[in-house]
Amino acid sequence: MDFRLTDEQQLLVENVRELMARENWDAYFAECDRTHTYPERWVKELCDLGFDLIMLPEEHGGLNLGLVTLTAVYEELGRWGAPTYVLYQLPCFDTILREGSPEQIAKVLAYVGTGKQIWNSACTEPGAGSDVGSLQTTYTRRDGKIYLTGHKTFITSSAHVPFLVVMARSAADPTVFTEFFLDTSLPGVRIEPLEKLGLRMDSCSDVYLEDVELDESDIFGTEGNGFKRGIKDFDFERFLVAASDYAVAISAFEDAARYANARVQFGKPIGRFQLNQLKFTEMAIRLDAMKNMVYEAAWHYDTDGMTATQAAMCKYYCVNAAFEVVDDAMQVMGGVSVAGDHRIQRIWRDLRVDRISGGTDEMMILTVAKGVLRTFAS
Ligand SMILES: Cc1cc2nc3c(=O)[nH]c(=O)nc-3n(C[C@H](O)[C@H](O)[C@H](O)COP(=O)(O)OP(=O)(O)OC[C@H]3O[C@@H](n4cnc5c(N)ncnc54)[C@H](O)[C@@H]3O)c2cc1C
Repeated sequence: MDFRLTDEQQLLVENVRELMARENWDAYFAECDRTHTYPERWVKELCDLGFDLIMLPEEHGGLNLGLVTLTAVYEELGRWGAPTYVLYQLPCFDTILREGSPEQIAKVLAYVGTGKQIWNSACTEPGAGSDVGSLQTTYTRRDGKIYLTGHKTFITSSAHVPFLVVMARSAADPTVFTEFFLDTSLPGVRIEPLEKLGLRMDSCSDVYLEDVELDESDIFGTEGNGFKRGIKDFDFERFLVAASDYAVAISAFEDAARYANARVQFGKPIGRFQLNQLKFTEMAIRLDAMKNMVYEAAWHYDTDGMTATQAAMCKYYCVNAAFEVVDDAMQVMGGVSVAGDHRIQRIWRDLRVDRISGGTDEMMILTVAKGVLRTFAS
């Protein structure tokens, strides 16, 4: 495996570095986090550098540079403490190009380069979290139209996206799961934002659907294939969460290392105390292990395919290891990490959420165990 970047990939990473060095983005991110605002100005600047073209095939005007490149860009952004989690939708063109109708594809691709939020998937309901298959949102056909009724919850970005891909079951045959490409401005769609601990630069809402009238052309993918499609594409999202958390943990580690060299107590820098040194050793090992894991998974994605086991392993390990790195970094930095306005507070809150959203730790454990044991089944 060779993760070395080509000149083109390296140039993109260097451009991103220059963008991040150009202004004090930390202050902007802190304000966006405080006001629960999507950092559109920053995302637009990233798109101007081609961020949303990285995974887009060339025939659609993209760069087709692959997931290793995206991982390298995430790594650079994370080192600057940037909220990489708001970028999850932008590399996800594989799903729309594979499943979307030409009209749906055109609607999504019209947003390329704008930095605006485009779409997201809505599966979760108050009674259907980890157990997605128990969802109760239904669709019914009447007089040549389709009517969608239900209640989705915890839906990321839904306060501002123009489209949601909503999973529902047929009222006529509850074993049939189908997805719909929903225009969120349609009558009968009501969105109520929720407060949350972290990831605050992206919205998270309840979505109420009351007899929303749709056409046959609003079906996303194939009728009856909704469950399979939704579950399969979880893998890519899980990888993005892992890469994002690994990346942002780098900033916490580097902040803590600089602080430990500068802060003097008992007559010497606190980095000389062995209890702090143990933390730096463990942080460095975790970062190294995460780095190898995400790059290896990205390399598989680009070459022979990333499995559900690899994606779940990445999410489970990296989300927890990154959280431990950030938590240790906080401990090293003492009071300044928890009082005042240091960015590590925001990062700690963000990473804690990721142990639940995008599939909980426990569901990742079950997926990994199933995958590894299957290998040895007779
Ligand atoms: C910030 C945020 C953003 C989200 N964004 C989206 C989104 O955009 N779209 C979307 O569809 N969903 C989204 N979700 C929903 C998310 O996927 C669910 O919250 C998650 O799958 C867990 O569901 P739940 O919260 O209902 O917990 P539950 O499923 O009720 O689980 C509660 C606890 O029980 C454990 N548990 C459940 N079943 C088992 C089992 N079989 N074995 C062992 N332990 C088990 C869980 O791991 C967890 O610890 C988001 C959630 C959050 C918090």
